[in-house]
Amino acid sequence: MKKRLGFFKFSCCTGCQFHFFYEQRYLLETLLNFDVVFSKILSSSGTPDGPFDVALIEGTVTEVWQVDELKRIREQSTLLFAIGSCAVSGGIPAIKATDPEIEIEKRVYKKLSSIHSIKPYAIDAYVKVDGYIRGCPPGERDLYEALTSVLTDKKPDFLHYSVCVECKLKGNTCVLVSYNVPCMGPVTNAGCGALCPSMNRACYSCFGPVKQANGSALAKKFKLMGLSKDDIIRKFTEFGAVTGEFRKAVEMMYED
Ligand code: SF4
Ligand code: SF4
Ligand code: SF4
Repeated sequence: MKKRLGFFKFSCCTGCQFHFFYEQRYLLETLLNFDVVFSKILSSSGTPDGPFDVALIEGTVTEVWQVDELKRIREQSTLLFAIGSCAVSGGIPAIKATDPEIEIEKRVYKKLSSIHSIKPYAIDAYVKVDGYIRGCPPGERDLYEALTSVLTDKKPDFLHYSVCVECKLKGNTCVLVSYNVPCMGPVTNAGCGALCPSMNRACYSCFGPVKQANGSALAKKFKLMGLSKDDIIRKFTEFGAVTGEFRKAVEMMYED
């Protein structure tokens, strides 16, 4: 019997879903083993009732109703994966997390009476998450790993080391050491195959913080390289403003 899969969306650009269904053609064969019962971009109908064997959640929770909806999906799902940086660590919507919510609302909207936004948190602030498919959008390795883990009934084997490891395994020249380019690779979770440094570009941490990242040390290094306080804060808040690993670096810069 095919596994029932629902792909649900909260506040985000829907790029993860687009990437999943349209860009990753190699996934199609694996997807044949699933009954995709809901996807916001493939369906015009409302959210169906469960149960779901697996729920993929993209987007950040930024409104009160989304908290209830997320909890409802969790109750009806055997497995629930966060997919993409928005759901995993707050992602792009989390750039507003460091300012008071009301200030942000005033900056964007003229009338605030119908605006009920809340601070943007990753979905694990509200529900138990069984796996994190990182990236903006995610890389093919982790997407495939997540789907096959559901089919084989095993724990997904996601990577728990930094982009630097992937970068070294590829034999890249380090852009941080050799070209003085502020690369976030040392504190960023692997999974993309060191995509950006392989093109001689700095990692900007779209996969979010690796566990136990030493953000403060990298922030100090960036300061020595001549980056301004604002630039350093921006680097650590672009994709993971609300996570502990990067918060220490940001707090250190504010105290400086
Ligand atoms: S993680 Fe990136 S691609 Fe995915 S929904 Fe968020 S902003 Fe879009
Ligand atoms: S280029 Fe970036 S990711 Fe690669 S080894 Fe250097 S710091 Fe790490
Ligand atoms: S190198 Fe960094 S910014 Fe580039 S895809 Fe990988 S995690 Fe994202």
